[in-house]
Amino acid sequence: MPELPEVEVVRRGLADHAAGRVITQAEVMHPRAVRRHLPGSLDFEARLAGQRIDAARRRGKYLWVELSGGDAMIAHLGMSGQMLVRPLGSPDEKHLRVRLRFADGGPELRFVDQRTFGGLALSDVVEVDGTRLPEPVAHIARDPMDPAFDQAAVVRAMRRKRTDVKRALLDQTLVSGIGNIYADEALWRVKLHWARPTDQLTAPKCAALLSAASDVMNEALAVGGTSFDALYVNVNGQSGYFDRSLNVYGQEGKPCGRCGRPIRREPFMNRSSFSCPKCQPRPAATA
Ligand SMILES: [Zn+2]
Repeated sequence: MPELPEVEVVRRGLADHAAGRVITQAEVMHPRAVRRHLPGSLDFEARLAGQRIDAARRRGKYLWVELSGGDAMIAHLGMSGQMLVRPLGSPDEKHLRVRLRFADGGPELRFVDQRTFGGLALSDVVEVDGTRLPEPVAHIARDPMDPAFDQAAVVRAMRRKRTDVKRALLDQTLVSGIGNIYADEALWRVKLHWARPTDQLTAPKCAALLSAASDVMNEALAVGGTSFDALYVNVNGQSGYFDRSLNVYGQEGKPCGRCGRPIRREPFMNRSSFSCPKCQPRPAATA
């Protein structure tokens, strides 16, 4: 799944290439792509026509555009969803699901999704804590790149939780935007095993962990995100190359960049956690 840096790359592309443009026609090529829009394809098409895209927004891994009518179009990228800007008349992609045409006669915005786990949906907008959010995003916490992110408050909430530290990092109602890749990278940076209970961590350690997560995501963003999947690309069809900088994620058996021990992989919530056995010892209770 794309995480915050990858979604931010797409958001910036939408801000550059779609904001300020008036939609003349929306065309749903595959109903599955709008299945989260419960009133259906025809309603989706009718409500978008004539609206202007005012801004591209993101919170954590959630991406949407604000529309002139006061609603929002949420883009769920899923495993393989792409928002592509393509010149008028360029051949349709094999997995083209939704096409938006604009009044300026400029490039189309296309939602392309090979595996169809993603999709688009229109939503009402609500105000939460001074920020306008689509209703399905209203419960999502601020992410570490949000100017209003309150690290001290998140540290207090983390330490009150009776959970392990990686679950806390992945809890989108606590802090958003961090997924499996950047959680593993942040934990390696501060030398914490993923199963450490949060209520046994000091406040400075929690703060260092959140800062590490923010740092690693900023570094990934600077190089266009992590191309963990060949299908993940920015709006121009290029993929990022942060995967060259990963210290633990997907690095099983390779030497730790700090101590040289082989990186280990452990099962975690139907997926994997990657860590260094020396730098990140298991907590005693689970050893
Ligand atoms: Zn190590």
